[in-house]
Amino acid sequence: MSKQPIKYVFVTGGVLSGLGKGITAASIGNILKARGLKVNIQKCDPYLNVDAGTLNPAEHGECFVTRDGAETDLDLGHYERFLDQELDQSSSLMSGKVLYKVINDERSGRYLGSTVQFIPHVTKAIQKEIKKASKGFDVHIVEIGGTVGDYEGLSFLEAIREFGLGVGKENCIFVHVVYMPYLGASQEFKTKPAQNAVRELRGLGIFPDILVSRSENTAPASVIKKLSLFSGVSEDAIVLLPNASTIYEVPITLEENGIAKVILDKLKLKYSKPKLEEWIGLIERAQRTYKKSITIGIVAKYLDNQDTYMSVTEALKAAAWAKDIGLNIEWIDSTSLEDMSMSQVKSAIKCDGIVVPGGFGKRGIEGKIKAAQFSLKSKMPYLGLCLGLQVGVIAAARNAGLIDANSVEINLKTKHPVINTMLGQVGKENTGGTMRLGEYPCVLAKDSLAADLYKKDLIYERHRHRYECNNVYRDQYRDWGIKVVGYSPDENLVEMIEGLDHPYFVASQFHPEFKSRPNKPHPMFMGLISAAIANKG
Ligand code: GLN
Repeated sequence: MSKQPIKYVFVTGGVLSGLGKGITAASIGNILKARGLKVNIQKCDPYLNVDAGTLNPAEHGECFVTRDGAETDLDLGHYERFLDQELDQSSSLMSGKVLYKVINDERSGRYLGSTVQFIPHVTKAIQKEIKKASKGFDVHIVEIGGTVGDYEGLSFLEAIREFGLGVGKENCIFVHVVYMPYLGASQEFKTKPAQNAVRELRGLGIFPDILVSRSENTAPASVIKKLSLFSGVSEDAIVLLPNASTIYEVPITLEENGIAKVILDKLKLKYSKPKLEEWIGLIERAQRTYKKSITIGIVAKYLDNQDTYMSVTEALKAAAWAKDIGLNIEWIDSTSLEDMSMSQVKSAIKCDGIVVPGGFGKRGIEGKIKAAQFSLKSKMPYLGLCLGLQVGVIAAARNAGLIDANSVEINLKTKHPVINTMLGQVGKENTGGTMRLGEYPCVLAKDSLAADLYKKDLIYERHRHRYECNNVYRDQYRDWGIKVVGYSPDENLVEMIEGLDHPYFVASQFHPEFKSRPNKPHPMFMGLISAAIANKG
C-alpha cells in the first residue's frame, strides 16, 4: 500500500491582528496529535526581518529559541507547549529569510538569466520551505502571520494558494480566523467584518474550508447560520471561539465543536477518538480555585508588553498547577527599583519568591541587581534566567564589597568585569543571529539543588546570550556567597550558580522556560514554587 500523502492545514487571519491565530493553529495540532498523527507546524511571518532576534520585544513580545538555535516568534513557544514537541528552525520562516535566499541565488547565477520576480521565484521559494518542513510528517500546519490584506503578506498567500492547487483538494485545508465584534448599542454580534474578511481571502483565490470566529463573549449559535450564508463555509465547519479563561481550553472547544472531524473528513484521514484526558486534566487545574496561593514577582522592564515573558509566565503557571497551589504574578518594574535603598526595595518586593528573566541593555539593570542583592541577603527564593544569572553574580560580588562589579555589557570600563564578553563575540554586539544560540550540554555538580531537582547530572538547555561569567573571578564565588553548580563539559563556561546557605537562589545562563510544558513543568520552576511555598509558610 502506498504511503498516505502529507496533508496540509493553512491558517490565515482576517479583520485584525492579535486574534490568537497561533493558539488556533497550535490547538489544531494538539487535537490531531491526540489521534496519533505525526504533526509538524510552521509559522510564516511577512516581516522583512531574517529572524526574530533583532525585533524589539516591546513591540513583538518574546523571542523564542528552538533547540537548533533559531530565534523565532513567540508563537513557536505556543506550538511547542501545545504539541509537546521540539521544533527546529524550519518551523520559522520570515520574509527576510526567503528574500535573502532568492537574492543570493540570483547573485550566484542560479536563475540562468531569467527575470527574478515575486511570482514565481519568491512564491516557489516559500513553497520549497513549506515542503521541506513537512517532510516525514502526516500533517503539516502552516500559520501565515499578519492579516489578509496586508501588503507584505501577499506573496505568502499566493504561495499557499498555488501550493493548495499543487497538492490537490484532498491534501490541503484552509482555516480562516476572523473577528466578530459586539455592538453594545444594538446588543448584537456583527458579522460584517468577518464577511468582508472572507471576501478578501476569496479575492486572492483562497476559499476557506473552516471559519474560526473569535469574539469577546459567547455569541448565540444563530450567528453561525448567518456566517455560513455569507461566507459559503458550511455550518458544521464554523466554530465560535469566545475569549477563553485559559488558552489551553481552545483545543477542547475545537474538539467539542467537531472541527477535528471536519478536518479529518476533508483530508480523507480516518476519524478516531482522541486521547485528551491529560489535557482535560490540565484545564481543570488551570481553572480550579485554589485554597492557598503564592505570589511570585517578575522583575522586568517591558511591563507594557508582558508577552515578552510569555514562556516564563507559562512555566510558572505549569509549576504552580503541578504543586496544587494558586499563583499570583506580580510585575515589578526593574527601573523603579534603581534609585531605591535596600529597605525601600524590601517593601517594593512583597512576594514569596522572585524571577529575574532574560534581558539586554542598560535600562533597568541596576534594579535587577538590587533585587538579586536583596534576595541574597534576605534569603528570598530567587530564580535567575540568563541575565538573571549575570545580575546574580554581580549582586553577590557587590554584597561582598566589590561595589564596582558589573557586566561589560553595561559598563565596558568597569573595574570588576565579573561578566565578560564571550570568546568570539567581540564586535558582534549589534549583529543578528550571532549570539550563543540553541541547546548545549551542562554538567551539574553532585551536591547541588540543581542536580536534586533535575535528578540527573547531564542536562541540555537552550541559550541566547553574548556575555558570560568571567573565569578570573570564579575562585572568589564562595567568598561572595555563591557557587558554580553547572558548567560546560570542558568546565570553561559557568552555566549555573546557586547561593550558599540559601533556600533557593538558583540561576542559569540558559533559558529553562523554553523547555517547560503545561503538563511537564520544568524542575527549576518547580524548585522555585516549592521554595516560595516554604517561604510563605
Ligand atoms: N544580555 C545578556 C547577554 O547577552 C543576557 C541575555 C539574555 O538574558 N538572554 O549575555
